[in-house]
Amino acid sequence: MDKPTPKGDVFQANRERAAPLLKKLRADGIGHMIDGKIVASISGETFETRSPVDNATLASVARGNAEDIDRAATAAALAFKPWRDMGPAMRRKLLHRVADAIEDNAEDIAVLECIDTGQAYRFMAKAAIRAAENFRFFADKCAEARDGLNTPSDEHWNVSTRVPIGPVGVITPWNTPFMLSTWKIAPALAAGCTVVHKPAEWSPVTADLLAKLAKQAGIPDGVLNTVHGFGEEAGKALTEHPAIKAIGFVGESATGSAIMKQGAPTLKRVHFELGGKNPVIVFDDADLDRALDAVVFMIYSLNGERCTSSSRLLVQASIAEKFVEKLTARVKALKVGHPLDPATEIGPLIHERHLAKVCSYFDVARQDGAVIAAGGKAHDGPGGGHYVQPTLVTGAHSKMRVAQEEVFGPFLTVLPFRDETEAVEIANDIRYGLTGYVWTNDMGRGMRVADALEAGMIWLNSENVRHLPTPFGGMKASGIGRDGGDYSFDFYMETKHVSLARGTHKIQKLGI
Ligand code: NAD
Repeated sequence: MDKPTPKGDVFQANRERAAPLLKKLRADGIGHMIDGKIVASISGETFETRSPVDNATLASVARGNAEDIDRAATAAALAFKPWRDMGPAMRRKLLHRVADAIEDNAEDIAVLECIDTGQAYRFMAKAAIRAAENFRFFADKCAEARDGLNTPSDEHWNVSTRVPIGPVGVITPWNTPFMLSTWKIAPALAAGCTVVHKPAEWSPVTADLLAKLAKQAGIPDGVLNTVHGFGEEAGKALTEHPAIKAIGFVGESATGSAIMKQGAPTLKRVHFELGGKNPVIVFDDADLDRALDAVVFMIYSLNGERCTSSSRLLVQASIAEKFVEKLTARVKALKVGHPLDPATEIGPLIHERHLAKVCSYFDVARQDGAVIAAGGKAHDGPGGGHYVQPTLVTGAHSKMRVAQEEVFGPFLTVLPFRDETEAVEIANDIRYGLTGYVWTNDMGRGMRVADALEAGMIWLNSENVRHLPTPFGGMKASGIGRDGGDYSFDFYMETKHVSLARGTHKIQKLGI
């Protein structure tokens, strides 16, 4: 039997894998992918992307503006008809080839994502595989994307069908950027849309890789274009471009509002996956060991930079003291370290500005009169990058900023509650409504609470486990629209009604 690889060896192997990739990245820089070609910005401008591990420059990146977006949108518009009219069998084959290419490069993608975003290898090791699954899932749905309904009436045969809306813009954030962009791009391509992707300026590396892998896999030129740059420049221009028919956006709620305004003159269809401040509710009759595992996982994995993280722990007062004691011990034992080290549970945060934002909440907590039970400081980690101690805040109540605002870091606020009514009240006392997690062994109560929670996705006795056919999205300030399964096609396609008369109905005769 093979001996398992010691963890230290995996760390070393990861560093050895990353070194030549980073050398090449530094030498080549990152350009836009427009119409199947890697190009510089028309202006010649660039910006630097840095690693959160040590703030070292990773690459010089083309800084796109409205001119580059126009080039990409024009390419996407020209490529649209042939892509739309390609048979679904061929589209399916091509999307599976993209999935193959992602799988073949999964290890490179994982280490690059770690170095570019600071996410720990233990989570990123599977990110590329999940991205490939996104492509395979939607590849297999190419044929049914056009499906509609047959709704006959007495005098007419009524059918509906769906057609791709046209070239679309996809704008993505920097947390788990590779997996997340495939989640938006794969259904758009499967629907028959062409895409202009504007990745986050803090994490351009794997978006560049995705564009190149798609090209290698045979996706025709102009079908998937990637323009790098800043939100207010390239992103804004994409949302305003008349050739772009819809914007699939993942990011902050405030950016969603801005995009809605920017897209209004061209009547853009929008789909928003926005922020969250999600509750996990633990009742005293729950399996408390499993609940504790899930509570820790759902806020401290992925550096807490996760829209679906449960950043508010609502725990029943009768068990709060004991539960929080165990939780505090677990938080203090979390391993903060280099993202390529497989032992690391929390890596450096994406950017110094984000680190400053997360750290600012330590003072906010204290000023509000809450207690920092664990963490509460920046962390001196390997490379000297943007590390922070995983933090737990107790002694808080629902009106405090630490209970209301999305910190988007390894930062958990505990809010005790008396009974079911108060739990639901606190859970819903928030502008967001993305996910909710409920732990109880009373299934009647579980279902009542699930029904009462104002959130798009609820898990009972479980952490967030994604199943691709299910609807993904939020209520309130957490989003508009749903992704996943057939829901994705409703966004990327127009539903078209066709009515055929049986020739028997009476037509009013005017002007006789
Ligand atoms: P962000 O809104 O700052 O940026 C997201 C993207 O929007 C980036 O590519 C950025 O360049 C672009 N952008 C910024 N301003 C723009 C503008 N005016 N017009 C067009 N594009 C613009 O978000 P972020 O800080 O990168 O990501 C973190 C946020 O994303 C958090 O709020 C998190 O909850 C959210 N998020 C939500 C989900 C979800 O599924 N609901 C998933 C992941 C992340």
